Amino acid sequence: MQSIEEIFPLLSQPKKVVITTHQKPDGDAMGSSLGLYHFLKQFGHAVTVISPTNWAAFLNWMPDTKLVLDYEAQTEKANAAIDEADWIFCLDFNTLVRTKRMEEKLGNAAGQRILIDHHQEPQSEKFAYGISDTGKSSTCEMVYDFITNSGNADKINVQVAECLYAGVMTDTGSFRFPSTTASVHRMVATLKEKGLNHSKVHEELFDNFLENRFKFIGNVLLNRMEVFYEYNTALIAVPQQDLIKYNIRTGDTEGLVNYPLSIQGIKLAAIIIDRGDERKSSFRSKGDFDVNTFARKYFNGGGHFNAAGGQSREPLEAVVAKFKEAMKENKDQLSNYQF
Ligand code: 5GP
Ligand code: MN
Repeated sequence: MQSIEEIFPLLSQPKKVVITTHQKPDGDAMGSSLGLYHFLKQFGHAVTVISPTNWAAFLNWMPDTKLVLDYEAQTEKANAAIDEADWIFCLDFNTLVRTKRMEEKLGNAAGQRILIDHHQEPQSEKFAYGISDTGKSSTCEMVYDFITNSGNADKINVQVAECLYAGVMTDTGSFRFPSTTASVHRMVATLKEKGLNHSKVHEELFDNFLENRFKFIGNVLLNRMEVFYEYNTALIAVPQQDLIKYNIRTGDTEGLVNYPLSIQGIKLAAIIIDRGDERKSSFRSKGDFDVNTFARKYFNGGGHFNAAGGQSREPLEAVVAKFKEAMKENKDQLSNYQF
């Protein structure tokens, strides 16, 4: 993988460009993709954004979300765009398997793949150019750096600013995680100067849920949460029947794992959701417990030091049992936690 700086001089030559990200894109994945889209469009490139799957409705306010192709629903159109692409930007994921059914098409594409990502252990050999930096708060921060380092800060308009803000804000837990550096705050200051209305972005993302989601959360916290105080750990296991009963859609479960993490003393929080086709887990930790390693070792996943996820084809009960075993195996680290 060559340095991303190598493509700076090539930006001014119009190209066919695809931008893609990980399945079930979150604020950072969609924000970085559309932020880069609104930037690249200004050079006259023909740009197509492809999401491997559908996404949460609370992302639909982002400018031009309606132009984003859902690979599962619009496979032919998306494949045609990939076939024609000179450049394929891969944002906010480290391994091609994170693009689910798109993995093969992406791996065999003739165009050059370009990585911009902040996850650990990227598949560098799969990319012609790229940058991977686990020290960065978000892929949106990295797209911002890409724009400014290539000498194009003047192309940050309100659309770019709104998309990039959404990702850096959500990936830093509204600027509370340790990844929130002085540079992140400087970036936000610049976005404000470019016309960003940050309150609007917060409202779009956090004040747009339907009543059923809160009934679902009430049920989950009351009936589906277990706290293991001797391990400083809490687990939520959600059966598929709950998702059906409360009419839960993509995105409605986002952030749920953070509730048990705010219980006094809890160092590791996990949620395992039976989505029908797979059991999806999310892990969050505080301090020195490394959930990236934990997710890789036990749950076929990965992510960051304090936020990671995984998936399994086994039944929910088996994944829950596995979690409890893994928790016990890590007892020393979990129970000796110093705040
Ligand atoms: P979340 O729990 O919000 O789905 O994901 C937390 C972090 O872990 C994100 O950075 C996400 O990209 C990563 N992650 C989530 N699930 C997986 C997975 O199955 N495999 C890998 N490698 N990373 C994951
Ligand atoms: Mn991210």
